[in-house]
Amino acid sequence: MTHLQHLPLGYGGEFDLISAALERWGALASGVGDDCAVLDVPAGQRMVLSVDTSVEGVHFRRPWLTPEEVGYRATTAALSDLAAMAATPLGVAIAMTLPESWRSDFSRICDGIGDAVRSAGAHIIGGDLSRGDALSMTLTVVGHTASPLSRRGARPGDALWVTGRLGGPLLALRAWEAGGAPSAAARERFARPVARIAPARWLADHGATAGLDISDGLSSDAGHLAAAGAVQLVLNLDRLPTIADANVEEAAQSGEEYELLVAAPAGLDTKAFEAAFGIPLTCIGAVVPPLPGEPEVDTRRGGVRVTVPRGNDHFPVA
Ligand SMILES: [Mg+2]
Repeated sequence: MTHLQHLPLGYGGEFDLISAALERWGALASGVGDDCAVLDVPAGQRMVLSVDTSVEGVHFRRPWLTPEEVGYRATTAALSDLAAMAATPLGVAIAMTLPESWRSDFSRICDGIGDAVRSAGAHIIGGDLSRGDALSMTLTVVGHTASPLSRRGARPGDALWVTGRLGGPLLALRAWEAGGAPSAAARERFARPVARIAPARWLADHGATAGLDISDGLSSDAGHLAAAGAVQLVLNLDRLPTIADANVEEAAQSGEEYELLVAAPAGLDTKAFEAAFGIPLTCIGAVVPPLPGEPEVDTRRGGVRVTVPRGNDHFPVA
């Protein structure tokens, strides 16, 4: 993406804050100040777009994270949806509600946003700043791809694959909610998740038929993949890759992982994947035809069918 000059912003407290952010972002922000961002999508490619909100008190609490981590994490969560579609990120637009109590941390939040945008190879293309009672960030992400990886498309005969190691965010949340402190490994996975953009491209190039990013928890998201593809997934809990202090049940429930769950041919070159990206790629099950009266996800432990509690739901049905 070519860097575009910003337009002059005008005067006033709001513009002073925006100018300060643009100064910190430098060449990372592009063409800000007009009414809309204007993007070029490479010929023959399709634009993909997603939006994601992160709200203080819902997605995180202030004592848990540094202001940089608050910005980084919210931005990575949004960018992860581009990874889920195996798209290449283009731009990020940020709508932020900034309470007075966070105002002195604004620059540090912006540094975290910039950090996430930079690691995804994207640009900041616009935004909106408003006053309000709780810190809230809504990030719109735009990317492109010739062949989007959908949730729909898993075929019986595919294997089920997951990137990285799971369990960290659940353990971190559990420790904080109990008034304690998480292990460094669990905290890192909550505070510094990674949008798996290049690994997703690799998987798409190696025949992935369907995929998504794990935001609700592997067991819930496996249900989404099964439902979208009208298939059954056999999930072998014993094979789940976990961070050191998590067990496989915790790994299956843990949300906001931003690892990828994909259906792809069996026999992928996991060594080549790990050498390229420094994270494991693990076969955790199989895609089979749907069976009437059977669950969408047949979760097994030691060969026996088990039930894993569902992950996070913002609006649970009573
Ligand atoms: Mg997603």
